Amino acid sequence: MKEVTCYKCDHCNKVVQTKAYMKKHEAKCFFNSKTRSCITCAHFKQDIYEPQGKVRWCNKSIDLTGGLNSNCPRHLNIEALTASENF
Ligand SMILES: [Zn+2]
Repeated sequence: MKEVTCYKCDHCNKVVQTKAYMKKHEAKCFFNSKTRSCITCAHFKQDIYEPQGKVRWCNKSIDLTGGLNSNCPRHLNIEALTASENF
């Protein structure tokens, strides 16, 4: 048996075996608010219906038909919003 070293993303549950690959992943991870992606945006909404599956949309009318966006000009960081509501 061999012991191996793994690297886990600071933003999601992804685990890989090389540090360089993880650095690349974290730079574009949808769960990293620095990528300004839908997952961390207050304007992103989704509902889950059976049997159709997920229905996703943007409250700022950004087109999501091609999948989730990154580097969105209308991104509103949901973490910053939640933090400000505590005051
Ligand atoms: Zn990640």
